[in-house]
Amino acid sequence: MATIKKLNVPTHEEVISFHDQEAGLTGIIAIHDTTLGLALGGTRMMAYQSEEEALTDVLRLSRGMTYKAAAADLDFGGGKAVIIGDPNRHKSEKALVAFGRVLESLNGRFMTGEDVGTNSHDMRIVSRETKYVIYPPESVEARLPTSYLTALGVLRGIQIAVKERYGSGSLSGIRAAIQGVGKVGYQLARMLQAEGAELIITDTDHRRLSNIAEGLNAQTITPGEIYEAEAEIFSPCALGGILGDEVIAKLKCGIVAGSANNQLSDERHGDELFKRKILYAPDYVINSGGLISALHEMGRCDEAAVIARIEEVYGRLGKIFEISRQRNIPPDLVADRLVEKRIESAKRQKAAQR
Ligand code: NAD
Repeated sequence: MATIKKLNVPTHEEVISFHDQEAGLTGIIAIHDTTLGLALGGTRMMAYQSEEEALTDVLRLSRGMTYKAAAADLDFGGGKAVIIGDPNRHKSEKALVAFGRVLESLNGRFMTGEDVGTNSHDMRIVSRETKYVIYPPESVEARLPTSYLTALGVLRGIQIAVKERYGSGSLSGIRAAIQGVGKVGYQLARMLQAEGAELIITDTDHRRLSNIAEGLNAQTITPGEIYEAEAEIFSPCALGGILGDEVIAKLKCGIVAGSANNQLSDERHGDELFKRKILYAPDYVINSGGLISALHEMGRCDEAAVIARIEEVYGRLGKIFEISRQRNIPPDLVADRLVEKRIESAKRQKAAQR
């Protein structure tokens, strides 16, 4: 059995670390806020250098989930799990089963699914020990992968961003520089190309990059050069925390819009982009497609309704850009304020019902 320890983190409702030596499992689960509903968030497996690094990541990611759910008008709270280890070397059936037991011990306060470093096959193994895990049925996954749904929301976000920044919603001839052509980046590249955009792509996985570039007839660039690419759109679809001082100073684009979580290195970097007239599509608004698809996995609505809700990213971001323009404040701040208002009002309602 895993040893479970409660960590005292005042910004979050509940944070636990777990360690099961026999199963080779170590990680952390963070529940950020459950005002709007049960905490939902993926399980990330990564070769973190230390427990501190894993803790910082899980705290930021779980807060991001609270904001993502609230922004998408979903009745979910925010949570996240991280498992410390290289998914290619340290993932085992035994560890996943043990992780299922840890989830079960939380009695439904947190529900999880796949994330970076885990997949739906892993979640099926986790589900042997707990019902608090979701994953798409195999038939749905083959037809409509979560990464496709996430990319669809990003595409709609890019379309409204292009309209806001350049005045026309058409992507024809627009150049998009994509950082990371993994599951989401690849789907997005295909969608952008179908809309007439020109692609500049990069990835640290050279073989994958050259295969995809060949298939899509896209220009490639090295990972170090992507920030300076001559393109209207920079689309981060790999890592979080990339938009810091150094990177922002290099950007030549008019729009930053991609799927990666927690793109801003710090809150002030949203202001920095705004000052430089680079339109930033807040990450948790534009990349909500995967979370919205959980509604289908939980049996709450059908596929058509999921797609319709993902399409709403266009209007939602449009409203954020409009407020940002009218009040002269960065879009990420507008998004944060809208979310915080929704959560505060739900808190007041709950308190009044008590
Ligand atoms: P993925 O692991 O399939 O793809 C990431 C790609 O980025 C990989 O091909 C990797 O080689 C590449 N990469 C890593 N470091 C890089 C670097 N420095 N420069 C260039 N390329 C680099 O992951 P994914 O599922 O496509 O998710 C991409 C991002 O979107 C992640 O930040 C994830 O948290 C976020 N996201 C994904 C989903 C989803 O549905 N999969 C939903 C919401 C948010």
